[in-house]
Amino acid sequence: MTAPRPRPEILTIDAYVAGQSKVQGVNRIIKLSSNEGAFGPAPAAQEAYRRVAAEIHRYPDGGSVALREALGKRFGLDPERIVCGTGSDELIQHLCHIYGGPGTDIIMSMHGFSMYQISGTYAGSRVLKAPERNLTTDVDAILAAVTPDTRIVFVANPNNPTGSLLPQSEMERLRAGLPPEVLLAIDAAYAEYVTEPGYDPGVKLVDAGENTVMLRTFSKVYALGGLRVGWCYAPASVTDVLNRVRGVFNVNLGAQAAAIAALEEQGWIDCAIAHNTEFRAKLSSFLESVGIKVWPSHGNFILADFGTPARAEAADAFLRGRGIIVRGMAAYDLPHCLRITIGNGEECALVADALGSFMAGQR
Ligand code: PMP
Repeated sequence: MTAPRPRPEILTIDAYVAGQSKVQGVNRIIKLSSNEGAFGPAPAAQEAYRRVAAEIHRYPDGGSVALREALGKRFGLDPERIVCGTGSDELIQHLCHIYGGPGTDIIMSMHGFSMYQISGTYAGSRVLKAPERNLTTDVDAILAAVTPDTRIVFVANPNNPTGSLLPQSEMERLRAGLPPEVLLAIDAAYAEYVTEPGYDPGVKLVDAGENTVMLRTFSKVYALGGLRVGWCYAPASVTDVLNRVRGVFNVNLGAQAAAIAALEEQGWIDCAIAHNTEFRAKLSSFLESVGIKVWPSHGNFILADFGTPARAEAADAFLRGRGIIVRGMAAYDLPHCLRITIGNGEECALVADALGSFMAGQR
């Protein structure tokens, strides 16, 4: 039988496997696999979402005008230079299709966020993975990978899943070393969780030229992952083309309303950040104390290194048995690691207790 045939490179894409939310035979699940905001959304955001229920026969504002204005006000940015998307995933995909395509290269770092590879390949680009140093993006390796065909460099800062952070000086060195026609996409999905002094999520580099964009999301500290809202701050030349191709009504009514309300609740966000900082440190030092290496993280997750794939798999199975779902890292070429989202206080205690027991059984 003949069937429609996709372009061959589409079949090289491994589908993104999202963090699972079920374990057979276990009623109560502790889901620590998708880096969702442990604090949950601000009650005002939930309320705003409920309030628009009476209007869902209407299309949303196609230009997300009020949301862009709220973002502009909150972050001191020109709303005209902001484009909102159905999660930052949508914007990553558009950038790949706009600037990439057959005959072009897109560069990411070895253990960078997997959507760059999926969207880049989907666009028809060749996706090159630059080696890292100590699970950290290596600017020299990225610059060495640049060819005349390079169109985009994606860097998540902080990076998911390693949690590593490049200092501003390294980001500046990267920008300065790239040819001006290469777009640098700085993905700052975890920006709010960074406590490092001098950190800039990308605004300064966007403002410094024509070839840098910053990607942000409401899925993490704002805890609106279920609504799919992301945004991009970019030069006018980039927002112009993004606006030509993005979904016409890409950010739905409830998502826009909740995101606007969430931006007004900075006190809630501050508490969410303080919680993350405290529990990221506590969980990391506990895991280290029971013999699990933890890579330093600047996000709302930690990368726990069990040394061998077999031990990581055994730990994963042990956690599942207790209804705790974390993220296996084989797809990121880190099969000896598990990524654990910083949950609420109880969730952190449960995963710590479980891994303490697991390690006790390993001796
Ligand atoms: N970038 C990074 C680095 C991420 O970790 C994620 C979420 N896993 C995203 C982008 C996508 O976020 P969104 O929910 O806005 O599509």
